[in-house]
Amino acid sequence: MQRAREAGVGRILVPATDLETSRRAARLAERHADIYAAVGVHPNSTGGFGAGSQELGELRELARSPKVVGIGEIGIDLYWKTAPLAEQKAAFRAQIELANELGKPVIVHDRDAHAEVLETLREARPRSGAVLHSFSGDRAMAEAAVGLGFYLGVDGPLTYKKNDALREIFAAVPLDRILIETDAPYLTPQARRGQRNEPAYVRYVAEKLAEIRGLTLDEVAQATTANAARLFRWE
Ligand SMILES: [Zn+2]
Repeated sequence: MQRAREAGVGRILVPATDLETSRRAARLAERHADIYAAVGVHPNSTGGFGAGSQELGELRELARSPKVVGIGEIGIDLYWKTAPLAEQKAAFRAQIELANELGKPVIVHDRDAHAEVLETLREARPRSGAVLHSFSGDRAMAEAAVGLGFYLGVDGPLTYKKNDALREIFAAVPLDRILIETDAPYLTPQARRGQRNEPAYVRYVAEKLAEIRGLTLDEVAQATTANAARLFRWE
């Protein structure tokens, strides 16, 4: 956290992957003024979700905290596919409905499931906003997501040498739809590859975004901070 503050990170949003990490993220956010939490059950953890009523009840309780500003990570993962698609979809939909009930945005995980994720978002319609985190779709999907009013999250892969396609997308999408993130401990930016990723390194993502858009680091920082504040209703 100290390294993050020294790198200019003003706020940290900690998403969850299951009930236990939801509890921990919410507790962490209550203890630190500059930390916020999202609670939710990640598609790789939906195996025991069942009908979901017990999980939804506890998520609803945790989300009462004003420091819990979103529901996530939720979505579909057809790479690991630890639960059948139908089960993942049911958990995804149920948690979008919870987010709508609570008036909070959703943080969406999509791995190798672009069509399924877009279809579910079109059907279930998160009413208080959504970010497709660690966006890995193509240009058409980026345009569709922006058209639906969603945000696109970008992280370490923007800095990887062989990722011109992703840089082209993030050079073109409207700046007021972009959020920068780390996905720590994963997806460490190029400059620190081989190390564990951490919040301080979001700076490398901001620098690369500034470079490809012909902006200053400060302009990117201001724009993406304003975007996060709008989506997560930060003061
Ligand atoms: Zn994810």
